[in-house]
Amino acid sequence: NPQPAVAEHSRSADEVLRTVWGYPEFRGQQRAIIEHVSTGGDALVLMPTGGGKSLCYQVPALMTSGVTIVISPLIALMHDQVQALEQLGVRAGYLNSSQSPEERRAVEAALLAGELKLCYLAPERLGSARTLLHRAPISLFAIDEAHCVAQWGHDFRPDYLGLYILAEEWPEVPRIALTATATVETREEIVRNLRLDSARVFVSSFDRPNIQYRIEPKQDAKRRLLRLIRDEHPGDAGIVYCLSRKSVEQTAEWLQSEGIPALPYHAGLSASMRSEHQFRFLREEGIVMCATIAFGMGIDKPDVRFVAHLDLPKSIEGYYQETGRAGRDGEPATAVLWYGLQDVVQQRRLIDEGEGDAQRKRAQGLHLDAMLALCETIGCRRVQLLQYFGQASEPCGNCDTCLTPPTSWDGTIPSQKLLSTVVRLDRERGQRFGAGRIIDILLGKTTEQSKRFHHETLSTFGIGTELSESAWRGVVRQLLAQGLLAVRGEYGVLEVSEAGWSVLRGERQVRLREELKQARGGSSPGRS
Ligand code: ADP
Ligand code: ZN
Repeated sequence: NPQPAVAEHSRSADEVLRTVWGYPEFRGQQRAIIEHVSTGGDALVLMPTGGGKSLCYQVPALMTSGVTIVISPLIALMHDQVQALEQLGVRAGYLNSSQSPEERRAVEAALLAGELKLCYLAPERLGSARTLLHRAPISLFAIDEAHCVAQWGHDFRPDYLGLYILAEEWPEVPRIALTATATVETREEIVRNLRLDSARVFVSSFDRPNIQYRIEPKQDAKRRLLRLIRDEHPGDAGIVYCLSRKSVEQTAEWLQSEGIPALPYHAGLSASMRSEHQFRFLREEGIVMCATIAFGMGIDKPDVRFVAHLDLPKSIEGYYQETGRAGRDGEPATAVLWYGLQDVVQQRRLIDEGEGDAQRKRAQGLHLDAMLALCETIGCRRVQLLQYFGQASEPCGNCDTCLTPPTSWDGTIPSQKLLSTVVRLDRERGQRFGAGRIIDILLGKTTEQSKRFHHETLSTFGIGTELSESAWRGVVRQLLAQGLLAVRGEYGVLEVSEAGWSVLRGERQVRLREELKQARGGSSPGRS
């Protein structure tokens, strides 16, 4: 046993950091947090991914006698986390549903005997472990990924709601809740649901200056991805996020056929394949993981050099966590998102058709709107991101909009043409259509549908030939992002919003990103 129990009472935070981890100094607020919890205070820690949250409870665990119970949803990683601690000479264990009864009994015995310094516990095991925990010498509860308790959040785990009993049944044991998600909304839910009213809140800067953020229109996204890998990140490890399992597999296969060592990862693959792919990603050089958002939480690989999104994330919180997996080592890294009109329509449909009541859908809609506003901003991406987390900052000089500032142009007239087409179809014909049909009308395209619905006789038929099809798709995308248009239902039909009417009445100007102006009159049929 490399951790002599006698010395533990008196070990200072610095000594633990140096002797156990071999690190010379604490980062950011780590020291203040550790001092606070090791003297019995509750804490809520908001720190970006890669900021060093684990040490905030692992160091206190070694400073005091007794065991620190770590509640974590990351069952698949518990074994690795425990192994990593044991390699440092720290006695640790875990209790989750993946264990055999014998393994579990051994951990329980060690826990009761006071032999463990840290014990990881899956939240769904809390109920059955309650009696056991009451007999163990607990010095601290750490609640990792605490945003999982937020019901409107993107990672909600119902079992987390049961964690309030820690406050009720162990009022004398300090608790530290940690998360990389920092909106005011989520923070309030954590405090409320975990009964952390008297906790001190530690908010780190959420800036990750070494990550270059880029958000580009989804035109030929696969080719752009290949160029990103070949030209900017040859041989580098990266993650490519896709929305569906199918596109994960297709993307991985396609990259493989282009000679890139890519692997798929999603919840539909067997457990053994998932852990093999995760293992290879962590241990081998230059693996490109094509994954759904099922991949990544808790993965500590410092040298991920790029994170690419082939589909639009549901929220800024999700986007920030996913991109935050790049460049944990502080070296330059790239985060690229390609998105298009189809993404907006699809996400809106997923919300409309998804589970949950009106309140939940409204919350999801607001998350999507904030994500769209980030995509369409002509200001610094980082300023907008940090603002979302309540942190003010200066333009960064290291994002696409800072590096090549997009200018905006007056898109009021094309917007009016588009909005009035939508309104006329509805008012005069009682018809509602998706973006494709509306754009065909503006371009004056004669098709089977235009004949069937007599669209040639509409006064707006063919009034939009000054823009290309892809430019019109961009206009629709931006009008959606600005809340001037709305998209509804299974078929993604367009509707003019209240704010959109003020454009039609000439009371409001519409500024559009220059990117579209360049595409004006172009002939590219690419769907964006
Ligand atoms: P988070 O959980 O916040 O995403 P981790 O706790 O996994 O971050 O820490 C990220 C990386 O930074 C880890 O490899 C960790 O060992 C390292 N790290 C954390 N704190 C320090 C420190 N004070 N000095 C050196 N490295 C640190
Ligand atoms: Zn910037």
